[in-house]
Amino acid sequence: MIQPDRVVTTTCPYCGVGCTLQLHVKDAFIFKVTSPFDSPVNRGNLCIKGRFGYDFIYHPRRVTTPLVRRYLLEGQPKPEGREQVFDTQRPGPNPWDWLETDWDTVLDITADKLVEIYKRDGSDAMAVYCCAKATNEDNYLLQKMYRALFRTNNVDHCTRLCHAGSVVALQQAIGSSAMSNTASQVIQNDVFMVAGSNTSENHPIIALQMKEAVQKYGAKMIVVDPRRIDLVDFAELWLPLKPGTNVPVFSAMAQVIVKDDLINWEFVKSRTEGIDNFIASLEKFTPEYAEQLSGVPAADIRRAARLYANAKNAAIYWGMGISQLSHGTASALALIHLAFLTGHIGREGTGLNPLRGQNNVQGASDMGAMPFHYPGYMRVDNEANAAKWEKAWQIEPGGLSRKLGLTTTEILAHAHPGGIRALYIMGENPMMSEPNLNETRKHMQELEFLVAQDLFINESGAFADVFLPATPFAEKDGTFTNTDRRVQRVRAAQAPRGLARPDWEILCSLAKRLEARLGYRKTAGWEYDSPEQVLREMASVNPDYAGITYERIEETGLIYPVPSMDHPGTPTLFTESFPSGRGKFIPLDYVPIMEEADDEYPFILTTGRILEHWHGGTMTRNSSLNEAYPEAHVEIHPADAEIHGITENMAVRVSSRRGEIVLRAAVTEKTTVGVVFISWHFAEAAANLLTNDALDPQAKIPEFKACAVQVFPAREQELPNPETQTKRGRY
Ligand code: SF4
Repeated sequence: MIQPDRVVTTTCPYCGVGCTLQLHVKDAFIFKVTSPFDSPVNRGNLCIKGRFGYDFIYHPRRVTTPLVRRYLLEGQPKPEGREQVFDTQRPGPNPWDWLETDWDTVLDITADKLVEIYKRDGSDAMAVYCCAKATNEDNYLLQKMYRALFRTNNVDHCTRLCHAGSVVALQQAIGSSAMSNTASQVIQNDVFMVAGSNTSENHPIIALQMKEAVQKYGAKMIVVDPRRIDLVDFAELWLPLKPGTNVPVFSAMAQVIVKDDLINWEFVKSRTEGIDNFIASLEKFTPEYAEQLSGVPAADIRRAARLYANAKNAAIYWGMGISQLSHGTASALALIHLAFLTGHIGREGTGLNPLRGQNNVQGASDMGAMPFHYPGYMRVDNEANAAKWEKAWQIEPGGLSRKLGLTTTEILAHAHPGGIRALYIMGENPMMSEPNLNETRKHMQELEFLVAQDLFINESGAFADVFLPATPFAEKDGTFTNTDRRVQRVRAAQAPRGLARPDWEILCSLAKRLEARLGYRKTAGWEYDSPEQVLREMASVNPDYAGITYERIEETGLIYPVPSMDHPGTPTLFTESFPSGRGKFIPLDYVPIMEEADDEYPFILTTGRILEHWHGGTMTRNSSLNEAYPEAHVEIHPADAEIHGITENMAVRVSSRRGEIVLRAAVTEKTTVGVVFISWHFAEAAANLLTNDALDPQAKIPEFKACAVQVFPAREQELPNPETQTKRGRY
């Protein structure tokens, strides 16, 4: 057995559970990952991604040298037609060739181009995507760079694409958008509801805790999901609703609670407002009306309502099946109302828990990687907030923009002359994660200058003008904040490979160049010795993190809010009141999905993740996990498959009004009749070529969870070959 030279404790780079990893290192090479049994988050358990998905860091396609397009390095004007990027047959030197260079050169070129565009077109031409996979410190610095130097709030990240509906709903109803409890408190409930979350594949360790709550502690689980997901086998009740019918189902549950006189009046009177209008708004939401819309039997809706309301302790956990809809905010509000009516919030176990997807999507949001908020969810259009950050960042009074920025989805839609001209992408992949990718491609081509800071040249990096090679989790220090709000350490286990540098170092080097070129007074604001110093600067203004230091989170992390240096952290929120004071009931109406099935497109497509892969696949498809699950599939119910002449593993074409893909069929009762499912991870059969870019008007989150498609048999030769048809590794 190999004996490690050292074992480095750090935090998983994949999902929001935030499992503790121990990286076993021999001869500067990580050869094994384990987890300690006393980890408070995962008690030694890891899923396949945490255990085996780390080897992307050694993949030969990883870029470890700065890259600049030939035209830039040779001082030529920018050539027309970004599509030439994909023309690998073109003879001779191509102006789009990537040329290797050194850090000074790439950072000087990047700073020159960004400043040129800013001086010519102003703040509104600049935008940045922060990164839910990067550390808190990386995200804090990137949003600071854009706010402090380019004076814009066009700052966002992929929270817009996963839980923006939940965030807006929770902010409206209670003034806070984080989970109210830790996931491990699920065992303290006698009833809990899991809505729109395939937890076993998306948050596998939390699914283990849910199963333990059922099997060991006797809790009853209600699953609300259009698919027969793994958790259904452990559930007391499964409500298989049609995609996009959350509001009628949860509102009908609310009506049952009202009609059966199961309201917790003490809680409603002391902690909420708006109950009378809300009850009046429920009039039409009978269980029978909800059954008509959702297909869920009225009797089951009644049973679910009574189970939840009669519980001593009950909680709600939800995923993107609630939020990724053009009415995602209303869907989340409908769940929040159930907790208000019954008082199932503010005690250990009970509460409202949107399960956050990426490892650090909670932290990136906390760090202000959003267009409406500084770090700590301080509104950018509030004078007092702006003044606090101007002081912290040594900016003249009134220097920061008070104008709300554009969201992720709006940034690309504004990529045209007169709109966004320069985009900086740290670690995100909009060419996989945006809806309606054929439109996204056009927007990417419209950009004048694109910076990609990443590990690989992914589908979005292919459009970039410069590439800044960053380090992955195992080659840098910092912190991640998991879905429990637990701030945990990330530790380097090996030196950066090649010339790659940690994101925070790249950003500081670039910011100093920008500061000089923009003619600002030189500040000490970019002279950090370590990421720890970055966190302390942020914590000096953000009260939620005020008591968090690297020393204090050395062992097990701390769950924020941690308002002072002797505060132990806050696993359970809202025990006395909500940040907004009283919780607000907000009457809702039912708004259907934007594109219903019809004769031409008879199926509803719903999309999501699978256990073996992660989002746009930049990491997992460049790891050994790709061997475990190498090919895209569309799940289709056996009854639908028979009607359409589709058999298991057959090549099929799935098309929508926006695009088409060819992939293999998986004939399975996991999906319901009339609904097909495709995961997001495969560039060669990208589900988002099909999805609808209709947005929730408040949260601006796209409707990834429902659009109309048709499915037909295809020929085997039409199946994409991942090696020749994806653009990976070609550049
Ligand atoms: Fe990593 Fe999430 Fe798996 Fe834990 S459950 S090992 S955090 S991917």
